[in-house]
Amino acid sequence: KAYTPDPKRYEEMTYKRCCRSGLKLPAVSLGLWHNFGDLTPMDHMKQMLFTAFDHGITHFDLANNYGPEPGQAERNAGQILHRYFAHHRDELVISTKAGFEMWEGPYGDWGSRKYLLASLDQSLERLGLDYVDIFYHHRPDPNTPLEETMGALTRAVRSGKALYVGLSNYDGPTLEKASAILNDLHCPFIICQNRYSIFDRTIEENGLKDAAARLGKGIITFSPLAQGLLTDRYLNGIPADSRISTDNRFLDQSALTDHRLEQIRALNQLAGERSQSLAEMALAWILRDDAVTSVLAGASKPQQILDNIGALKNTHFSSEELQRIDQISLG
Ligand code: NDP
Repeated sequence: KAYTPDPKRYEEMTYKRCCRSGLKLPAVSLGLWHNFGDLTPMDHMKQMLFTAFDHGITHFDLANNYGPEPGQAERNAGQILHRYFAHHRDELVISTKAGFEMWEGPYGDWGSRKYLLASLDQSLERLGLDYVDIFYHHRPDPNTPLEETMGALTRAVRSGKALYVGLSNYDGPTLEKASAILNDLHCPFIICQNRYSIFDRTIEENGLKDAAARLGKGIITFSPLAQGLLTDRYLNGIPADSRISTDNRFLDQSALTDHRLEQIRALNQLAGERSQSLAEMALAWILRDDAVTSVLAGASKPQQILDNIGALKNTHFSSEELQRIDQISLG
């Protein structure tokens, strides 16, 4: 059956310019790291993408290795895109990445030109697309000259296989160096993808946030809900359908210490006082910041996507509320 997107899909979403570029991203984007592998029924994945697009989420984020088995998320998303979104390709921003281990041997990991360009070809084949909108280097590679990696990203754009490039998991000083090289190469580098949440302030400490603002690059923040910890998910135990129960490769029960739970409960209380869910407050806390273009949230159900968009209803915080959040989460 064909899919007809909601004609009102652009009415409630906010689109933010990716700093000094021409590209706008939805304030809330959808990440396909989890729940788009072969263990999830195709119909469920479809419903998540439909729900997202019907509510103005125009950006879906992938990587070569998203699975659980590497490649699965791209392949599954590709099938859905091909079948249902073919007429809407120009309304979508699809990103992918290379930088973590993808295939056996010395050419399937890190940051060589050999790896990045082969990986992008493979991603496009799995996605069934001619180009991606954003191609990221997924993590810095200390053993490959930055010039080589940046040259490969530039080549990806020149060959028409990517429109823009991004850097993920870089810190401030490495970003500065990489950005200078990309400038020299006239490469359309526009965005940094980094972890950022109430619970993880690394980019405030490693120079990334300041450097991105100074250089005019957008920031899209991953794991803004700390993989589900910054929601009501774990307030009363560990639900059977939660990430800790279903796929604990990156979020294990050990993350849920008594101290963490206390923090989550206190934040949940504050969110309630603001008439928000904890998930809404956690996303709003990031979006209050003009340096951030988009929060990149994941979801295991369509309803979570709708709940997350609800964050946009109130992104204002009093200085007292901000202080309380810091006291709770940094204490
Ligand atoms: P989040 O912190 O948004 O966690 C998502 C999880 O939180 C969901 O799977 C769900 O967990 C739970 N959740 C989401 N919304 C709600 C809600 N409204 N109420 C209750 N629970 C909710 O992000 P992810 O860790 O999933 O990362 C998001 C994206 O960021 C990835 O998909 C990927 O695109 C990108 N990413 C990039 C990385 C990089 O190195 N560049 C690394 C990691 C992620 P549950 O399953 O328990 O329902």
